[in-house]
Amino acid sequence: MPALVYVGLGSNSGDSEGILRAACAGLAEFLRGLRVSSAWRSAPRYVLDQPDFLNAVASGECALEPPELLRRCNALEAALGRDRARERVKGPRTLDLDILLYGSELVDLPDLKVPHPGMTERAFVLRPLLELDPDLADPRSGRPFAVFLPSVETQGIYPAGLAALY
Ligand code: ADP
Ligand code: MG
Repeated sequence: MPALVYVGLGSNSGDSEGILRAACAGLAEFLRGLRVSSAWRSAPRYVLDQPDFLNAVASGECALEPPELLRRCNALEAALGRDRARERVKGPRTLDLDILLYGSELVDLPDLKVPHPGMTERAFVLRPLLELDPDLADPRSGRPFAVFLPSVETQGIYPAGLAALY
């Protein structure tokens, strides 16, 4: 059964706008009816001495099982210049694709946790996610994602002011 999937996109190395555009075109190959939020700029978290990120969230119907979806996302990251072997943990990357939601399924595999564990504490996820679907609720608790917005209010994030990514 196809599931409505949400993927978070981030880039702060290379031509981030071009990379996110190419990533959306790539995601459209396995996420049907792809919709993409506007682009946001966000201050780095965790590792602070790196450039701001360009972020967005994309959503579409996916017929792939979760592990295969992760494999395709990792392949897209690599195709767009990501080399995990050479990068710093939480440091600059050309492309980061995180599977945020896979329908209302809970996935708990060694290399894949869905919903993405950190998503409710990250403004760069919540803002674009709620832009796509303002009423979306967290399948873990049933609580609307909007209730988490006040707790991320102080995180630096602003509209990138770019033309639609997709
Ligand atoms: P970051 O936590 O900054 O996104 P990486 O992109 O390097 O770091 O991902 C680290 C690991 O997170 C990957 O090897 C991947 O297997 C794992 N992972 C667990 N859950 C997810 C998810 N929902 N989406 C993407 N990767 C995930
Ligand atoms: Mg990631």
